[in-house]
Amino acid sequence: MKKHLILLPGDGIGPEVTREALKVLQASCSIYDTELTTEEYAVGGDSLDKFGVPVKDEVIEACRKADAVLLGAVGGPKWDTNPRDLRPEIALLKLRKELGLFNNLRPVIVYDALLGTSSLKADIIRGVDLLVVRELTGGLYFGKPKDITEVNGEELGVDTMLYSTSEIERIVRAAFEAAVLRNNKVTSVDKANILATSQLWRKTADRIHKDYPGVELEHMLVDNCAMQLIRNPRQFDVIVTENMFGDILSDEAAMLTGSIGMLPSASLGEGVGMYEPVHGSAPDIAGQNLANPLAAISSVALMLRHSWAMNEAAEQIELAVETVLGQGYRCADMKEGATQVLSTAEMGDLVCEAIKQKLTG
Ligand code: NAD
Repeated sequence: MKKHLILLPGDGIGPEVTREALKVLQASCSIYDTELTTEEYAVGGDSLDKFGVPVKDEVIEACRKADAVLLGAVGGPKWDTNPRDLRPEIALLKLRKELGLFNNLRPVIVYDALLGTSSLKADIIRGVDLLVVRELTGGLYFGKPKDITEVNGEELGVDTMLYSTSEIERIVRAAFEAAVLRNNKVTSVDKANILATSQLWRKTADRIHKDYPGVELEHMLVDNCAMQLIRNPRQFDVIVTENMFGDILSDEAAMLTGSIGMLPSASLGEGVGMYEPVHGSAPDIAGQNLANPLAAISSVALMLRHSWAMNEAAEQIELAVETVLGQGYRCADMKEGATQVLSTAEMGDLVCEAIKQKLTG
């Protein structure tokens, strides 16, 4: 089997964590007789520095033709004062929109070995295994008008929240499909007491639910959901929500696992899938070999499962991550309970070793 991967390392710790994720993917591909070819392109601040744009059109075209895309992270203080359409984050929005990546899966799994690492009590988080399904190409991040204008002598910032029935329908359906393969429960999160988009969201979710009678559907207001994630996260199976609510809730959920450096994501749509850690470019630790690469490595497991139907290889990576953590190895973001604190590269090497050892017994 042949697979072609586009690498978009980006900024800050992006290149450091994608390097380790690629190492692990190469180890998996060699075990499963998969010939892996890669092409690397600049995105975000890196692309702004080299080409003056957050992402070149030819990069999007290359992604469209590939078998998967692995992205690190974009952004950093160097570009924070750039005009809005010359900010690194525009690269992400453009890639998501142009590749039609509306379905963002963010699994949140609490490993037993990390129970002591979270800021929450072990009793609250033990056994948490939930999936946030975030709508990725609509809502406030994309709605027009979006501007800062001058009105009556002062500045006025405007963002617009828009959702069509078809946009809601496809993401809610994806959530029901995911729940069928999990524990048959969907929590649809909105702000239907205030927002028109949320009222349409709720009505559409109820309608789509009729196609999935074996799945329980509950509606929850976003403010309550933020509270429930901390109070009793085990109540959730699949959470489906719009773009910005999903962005915020999944970062909150990341802390159940002990660190934002643990959370992978898959962005899916009609064509190629894009995989990336949930965290950002972490400028405070960039270039120091300190970043936790496990979110990027687990994103590769999602790639193998969702884009390449290599379920066994995906499970092997997930098991290797669990094994390494179980042996007490951590990166600097999760020192509590560690027997040894590893660098980014050492963690990548150890996961590769764990994959190979499992195979050789
Ligand atoms: P961040 O996720 O980069 O960092 C938040 C905190 O978590 C920092 O203290 C950082 O050191 C730590 N952290 C993050 N990932 C880590 C890892 N793998 N290992 C260890 N520690 C880790 O968020 P931020 O500080 O709000 O944003 C920094 C930059 O990243 C900004 O420019 C922002 O726009 C950008 N950003 C990009 C993405 C993306 O590319 N998908 C997502 C979020 C933020």
